[in-house]
Amino acid sequence: MTLNYYSECATQFLQSYLPRNYHQWEIEFVSTKKLAGKCYLQRKIIQLSSNLIEHSNFCQVEDVLKHEIAHAIAYTYFNYADHGDFWKYLCYNIGCSGDLYAKYTQTVIQKPKCLSFNSKI
Ligand SMILES: [Zn+2]
Repeated sequence: MTLNYYSECATQFLQSYLPRNYHQWEIEFVSTKKLAGKCYLQRKIIQLSSNLIEHSNFCQVEDVLKHEIAHAIAYTYFNYADHGDFWKYLCYNIGCSGDLYAKYTQTVIQKPKCLSFNSKI
């Protein structure tokens, strides 16, 4: 899958989950191996690792993307900014595992999963 494909996925998820605010958010791809993704809450930027995309399947990248989008939802609507129970609750509701990806080369790539597959995309 290409970066353009995941950019379109991210836009569609944002439109679905942040219908009034999605246009404020930007998706960036960064070539880091340190993080799978990152959500800059105040700057409204979601970053995804192009390295993650290169070495992972759709379900793994989707989980990371939804992880970051759950942060965007939690902050935008509830001013909530950590990985606590409320954030996990939001994760489960958008089809995300709620896993943390600080060391994603060990957790994401070696742990294939597919919680949901959005056939619209
Ligand atoms: Zn997080």
